[in-house]
Amino acid sequence: MSDSPPTTPCDEGGETRHQGIPVSPGIARGVVVVRSDGFLEPVSYRVRAERVPSELDRFEAALVQTRGEIHELQREILQSGRKSEASIFDAHLLILEDRSVLDEVSASLEKERWNIETVFFRVMRRFMDSLRSIDDPYLRERVIDIEDVAKRVLRKLARGGDAMEKTVGHAHILLALDLTPSDTAEMDAELVLGFATEMGSVTSHTAIVARSMGIPAVVGLHGIREKVHTGRTILLDGYSGLLIVDPTEETLAQYSELERAKSAVVEKLVELRHTRARTSDGMAITLSANIEFAHESSAVVDSGAEGVGLYRTEFFYMNPRALPGEDEQAENYARVVSAVNPHGVIIRTLDIGGDKMPVEGVAYQEANPFLGWRGIRMSLELPDLFRSQVRAILRASAVGKVRIMFPLISGLEEIRKARAHVESCKDELRKQGVPFDEEIQIGAMIEVPSAAVIADQLAAEVDFFSIGTNDLIQYTLAVDRVNDRVAGLYQPEHPAIMRLLKQIVDAAHQGNIWAGLCGEMAGDIHLTPFLVGIGIDELSVSPSLIPRVKSAVQKLEAAACRTLASEVLSLNRSADIRERCKGIAMEHYPELLI
Ligand code: PEP
Ligand code: MG
Repeated sequence: MSDSPPTTPCDEGGETRHQGIPVSPGIARGVVVVRSDGFLEPVSYRVRAERVPSELDRFEAALVQTRGEIHELQREILQSGRKSEASIFDAHLLILEDRSVLDEVSASLEKERWNIETVFFRVMRRFMDSLRSIDDPYLRERVIDIEDVAKRVLRKLARGGDAMEKTVGHAHILLALDLTPSDTAEMDAELVLGFATEMGSVTSHTAIVARSMGIPAVVGLHGIREKVHTGRTILLDGYSGLLIVDPTEETLAQYSELERAKSAVVEKLVELRHTRARTSDGMAITLSANIEFAHESSAVVDSGAEGVGLYRTEFFYMNPRALPGEDEQAENYARVVSAVNPHGVIIRTLDIGGDKMPVEGVAYQEANPFLGWRGIRMSLELPDLFRSQVRAILRASAVGKVRIMFPLISGLEEIRKARAHVESCKDELRKQGVPFDEEIQIGAMIEVPSAAVIADQLAAEVDFFSIGTNDLIQYTLAVDRVNDRVAGLYQPEHPAIMRLLKQIVDAAHQGNIWAGLCGEMAGDIHLTPFLVGIGIDELSVSPSLIPRVKSAVQKLEAAACRTLASEVLSLNRSADIRERCKGIAMEHYPELLI
């Protein structure tokens, strides 16, 4: 047994495989860092009996330093006159003196002989778990204090002293219970090679952000943090959803081969960059890109997309954790617009709410956030916020082709109110002599079943539709899009969804407007034959998927897809629909489906 941190795993055994849900493609190999209860699990290693006293000394020193740090913090807070805040830290000091915890740490160290960080981490985790299970709001609240103190002590124990627990200085694969979209957006893609979570789903915004950042990710690995600990070497397969612990040489060789095959396909697709997504019999589809950050515009251009079909602006609001002003927004949007010129950009107004939770200043806790204060509902109730965004979008429309799109439209009234704000913002800008595109087009996302049902009426009020299948599926099938427990019921190819999509596209065409699709379904090339068959006008997908979807469209024949679509609409089982579409896809582009 070693008494220094291992470079090899501390748990024994050969290769083990754990199946999760793949949500962001790519392969990552590296050392695991586990995040538990909001803080990082330390590296574990065994210590010899004679090292026990020195481990206890390290612990004692860390406690003394932590007490000093808390006293210092209290002093600063008192000096700034915030007396009640300073008293919170009295509770933290009491935790550091709690004999039951300290005795359990020494007893566990003697008995189990793991390094002191591991012993302390495990004791604190047990302590927090037991408090959480007690039906007392006061005790549950105390978990936050305990976590805070535990993090301080672990920082002191950590090699390198005060390293922040949120950042790890070396490349690693992160394992966590769950991650928020902003946790993901803040990741340093150079250091986080991939991540795996116990919870999550394909259409969660955490997964969407991972894909846009090119970070391989697997979710739905229940209980993985009990089985895999910090320091283990793993391979994470973001294509199939496998997490492989201690991969053998043979597995690594297989994966190198797979990566070679995948990059050969990608290299071939580069040739398509300057071509259009047009079927063999001449039906053209506009293929545009979804982005979450302005810096993705170069990837949009490189991918050969015809502009941006969905700019999810809420991530711009979320990252600085404060609301950007009108000028800052106008600059951000103009940057994207100039980068993709002469193609256009569809800028969607704020869609905070649901799992894109809250930014400072518009925080609101709800029992059912996906059914609550979200998207256009929030914008209409916060006119100052909304109008500053609309004005910024209008200003960016002077730089190049811009369209405005509203999220979560559920009825005519919302569209009319939102349009009225656009008109009055235009008046303001006109009076101020600020240039903008007088003819700017306005679109509605069709992602709420009520909007789908009245699509014919909505078509008379807007210039285009963009179908948000991520939400349309969850709301139509009553399946939470971020809940992995019901992920099997989240079926894009459900007969009800197929019918709704056809109805929406037909309503758009009868109303002489175009209909696009910007949910994750747009990038699922198994379903491209059906979407072509119902006459979709635009598909908007993550930039990395553009070449693949373009190639799929080019290999299809629109007439055959129309026949397939009418056949599919008469089928009544999701599995049959998927099989039928997959059959056509396999026939026309098997090389894209590896
Ligand atoms: C959708 O719902 O399909 C969509 C594109 O919007 P978001 O994923 O941001 O909710
Ligand atoms: Mg949506």
